[in-house]
Amino acid sequence: MNAVVAGVSVDTDHWIGGRRAGSAATFEDRSPIDGDVIARIARGGGPEVDAAVRAAEAAFPGWAATAPDRRAQVLRDIAAGIEERLEDLAVVETADNGALLRSHRRGVMPRSAHNFRFFADHLSERLGEPDFDTRGHRNHLSWDPAGVCALISPWNAPLMLATWKVAPALAAGNTVVLKPSEWSPLTASLLCDIAADAGLPDGVLNVVQGIGTEAGAALVAHPGVRRISFTGSVPTARSIARTAAANLTPLSLELGGKSPFIVFADADLDLAAAHAVEQYDNAGQVCLSGTRLLVEESVRDEFVARFLDKARSLRQGDPRDEATDIGPSIHPDHFARVDGFVQRAKRDGATVLLGGGPNEDLGGLYYRPTLFTDVDPHSEIATEEVFGPVLVLRPFTGEEEAVAAANDSAFGLAAMVFTGDEDRAERVTARLVAGTVWVNCFFVRDLRAPFGGSRLSGIGREGGRWSFDFYCDIKNTVFAPEGWTGRSPSKE
Ligand code: NAD
Repeated sequence: MNAVVAGVSVDTDHWIGGRRAGSAATFEDRSPIDGDVIARIARGGGPEVDAAVRAAEAAFPGWAATAPDRRAQVLRDIAAGIEERLEDLAVVETADNGALLRSHRRGVMPRSAHNFRFFADHLSERLGEPDFDTRGHRNHLSWDPAGVCALISPWNAPLMLATWKVAPALAAGNTVVLKPSEWSPLTASLLCDIAADAGLPDGVLNVVQGIGTEAGAALVAHPGVRRISFTGSVPTARSIARTAAANLTPLSLELGGKSPFIVFADADLDLAAAHAVEQYDNAGQVCLSGTRLLVEESVRDEFVARFLDKARSLRQGDPRDEATDIGPSIHPDHFARVDGFVQRAKRDGATVLLGGGPNEDLGGLYYRPTLFTDVDPHSEIATEEVFGPVLVLRPFTGEEEAVAAANDSAFGLAAMVFTGDEDRAERVTARLVAGTVWVNCFFVRDLRAPFGGSRLSGIGREGGRWSFDFYCDIKNTVFAPEGWTGRSPSKE
């Protein structure tokens, strides 16, 4: 089956064993930009997942035995293929998930290509780790691929987050079954075309389309799966972890957040306000978003004035328009969820400093960037992930209170600290519970760095060697010295 989306032909079937395969059932894919149905997607379940895992199992010995240099070359060719089709990928992704076209063109899609190139390079470096000696015995470490990996990705950065899993898994010599989100299924299908053109052997990458509770649940329950890597919400993670427990399948979980954005009185308030407004990017649908603005009491009014000034100049509208800063929410269900949080907060007495409801001028799924203050720190709006353009502001006095407020969260994904005092930055960052902390900046990302969260924000880290190690069975082989006839040294 094919759909033409933003002028690009996209196959809407599964990709199993190097062939397209349909399902009797399909589901509608609607664009968040205008609600139009843009494609009908194959709706996979147990049988399609089983076929995909079997195809991946069949392809595994060949791909695992492929020389690392050859694997790396295929990954580099996939990166080049993504770059060649960058415009197609960008326009299709924007139609599918409503995120800004300019970000897809300039940031997200180039990063998707970079993910493949990075892990191709990483593969060469990693395999060159030196042996080491134990009383004449040589220890040799090897990173053996684990087998079939189940990769489950969300809708807020669909291709980028999928490639972040696919690239290290393939680099390490695994074969994969990817289940993209049902709210943004299209670019995963284009990736299959690109991978096939790059010479990736049949069955190494498989994509099963479908609903989370059907295709996703069947995939994580499959006994042939050796690794599960999931990015998404906490409730889904709990369900996956329960299922994975049956086979003790190793899990990587990248989940949500409610990150603190701390502004001290000695900060550059313009810089802090500019970065605070960035927390509305992607209509607030960013796991890392610093949605709890903790601002030192003495500069509260000044910070709020600068923040509102900048926030009011943001342009909301069609994400295909280069001038747009904030696009629509992904889906009517999600929009209603975001609005539910906002209306309950208002009912509970929170003060609205900005926004506070849908953008009626635009209609559809456009939600106004919203800022609350006077919120109970333990209320729903102050503690739960809204995953929309909704921030809460809470004043604090002094460093102790800032750190306590920042860490008073079930999550621990990221934190941002704005201060003009380097010593304070060192002291505060050392005490924050977060996988990534940015000081006087935001969203500086390097694939050599680990990425992930503490507490309910996840288990494990992605990026760099952390991703690579997750997808491997790491083995130590100990070689005795030539002519060795003695007893085990550790027993002597
Ligand atoms: P979600 O949990 O609803 O869905 C994520 C994926 O899981 C989708 O592909 C879905 O089909 C699948 N799924 C749903 N139920 C399943 C089940 N029972 N078994 C197996 N798979 C199932 O999350 P979402 O709404 O797509 O994404 C938003 C969430 O993702 C937010 O909480 C956000 O913070 C988080 N997120 C985290 C990161 C990170 O790196 N930490 C990045 C992006 C998004």
